[in-house]
Amino acid sequence: MDNTVYLSLGSNLGDREGYLRQAIEFLNDDSSISVESVSSIYETDPVGYIDQPPFLNMVIKLQTSYSATRLLALIQTIEHRLKRKREIHWGPRTVDLDILLYNSESITTKTLRIPHPRMTERAFVMIPLREIAPDVTLPGWQFSLDQILSELQDKEGVRIWKRKNGDGVFELFES
Ligand code: ADP
Ligand code: MG
Repeated sequence: MDNTVYLSLGSNLGDREGYLRQAIEFLNDDSSISVESVSSIYETDPVGYIDQPPFLNMVIKLQTSYSATRLLALIQTIEHRLKRKREIHWGPRTVDLDILLYNSESITTKTLRIPHPRMTERAFVMIPLREIAPDVTLPGWQFSLDQILSELQDKEGVRIWKRKNGDGVFELFES
């Protein structure tokens, strides 16, 4: 399991925290994946299509033996199992899982782009990523996370909702 991956998770329908927890459980239950760490949970005002409820967002770090393509297929299965309906682009969803970084690789296929092409524009991704990986570098970027974040406008829209209180992956969900 020698590939290091960062994923972003978001939910803005129904039991938002429950969907985040279930998505992490599905990932961790897979014998080819080990969830290494999780960020705090943040609440974020919607961007893009703004007439929808606020999101919970977080970032997790995992180790996996899967390729990026295989991991994309798995996260889409998890989205499907958690009953995500793709109705409105950037609209409400029970759960959205995006691959942010896969080692320090740049990957472009028909269905996959890594680093995730919009991550550096999204404070709701960059803030939790900086919390768990302040020194991570993005392939193709000469700037640090701090520098990228200092340029972003919508940081006030990202509020801490549940602070991580220990090192265990599921401790966050137990209080
Ligand atoms: P968004 O996450 O932008 O709100 P979706 O979750 O509906 O939109 O994703 C649409 C498509 O984005 C997926 O079908 C997938 O093929 C593609 N995609 C491209 N790069 C990535 C990535 N790094 N992580 C997840 N999906 C990606
Ligand atoms: Mg997505």
